[in-house]
Amino acid sequence: MRFTFVTLFRSLMEGYFEDSILKRAIGRGELAVEWLNPRDFTKDRHRKVDDTVAGGGAGMVMMPQPLHDALAALKSRSPEVHIVFTTPVGKPFRQSDAKRLASQRRHIAFVSGRYEGIDERIVELWADEVFSIGDYILTGGELPSLVMADAISRLVPGVLGNAESLEAESYETALLEAPSFTRPKSFHNLSIPSELLKGNHSKINALKKRLAIAKTKYFRPERYLKFTQRDSDEKSIY
Ligand code: SAH
Repeated sequence: MRFTFVTLFRSLMEGYFEDSILKRAIGRGELAVEWLNPRDFTKDRHRKVDDTVAGGGAGMVMMPQPLHDALAALKSRSPEVHIVFTTPVGKPFRQSDAKRLASQRRHIAFVSGRYEGIDERIVELWADEVFSIGDYILTGGELPSLVMADAISRLVPGVLGNAESLEAESYETALLEAPSFTRPKSFHNLSIPSELLKGNHSKINALKKRLAIAKTKYFRPERYLKFTQRDSDEKSIY
């Protein structure tokens, strides 16, 4: 998988790939990361990338020409690139999108807005998809781009050492994952549920399922409802 990050602030993002799982994936050639700065495509002496809001209002908007030229350059050298824009008014990014993009795309570009956002005509001209990572406003698209790239990366074959760990994860099904524990058996007077320590796998699985159901019901009632509607047999365990 290859990612191109279109950003004015590469330095905010680079560190994320310089350690841990993604660094190793880059080392093994499973991931490649590159950067494109719209400022390098400006035409004026001040290398200006923003302008005032049409119709008035506070703040600045990322002007079309530098972004347009940056994306045109990218598309002409990599015609297969899939271009994703970040915006708080996009489609909510979900695990299912991460899965689809990881399996269907080889090269994804993420475009980060700054200031009041990007001139809408650029989105119109270039976006293959437009995502929000949640109902809040950030100062720029760099974190959203990293969030999506991270979620996609760990689904690329080989990136995570242990493919099994993907299977039971939250958002793979309607249920959230059961809580996890590790040694010691007792910590601050709190014990690991004893069933998990006895090695009886069918009992362990049943317990995990009950815990997953309880957790989903408490934190995400709308997902629990979906689960009960979809799966009336299994809900009887609870
Ligand atoms: N004025 C805009 C907010 C602009 S935030 C509005 O009210 O809708 C500036 C940039 O940050 C956006 O262009 C986008 O790239 C990014 N951004 C901020 N919040 C985001 C979110 N929740 N999801 C995805 N991108 C976001």
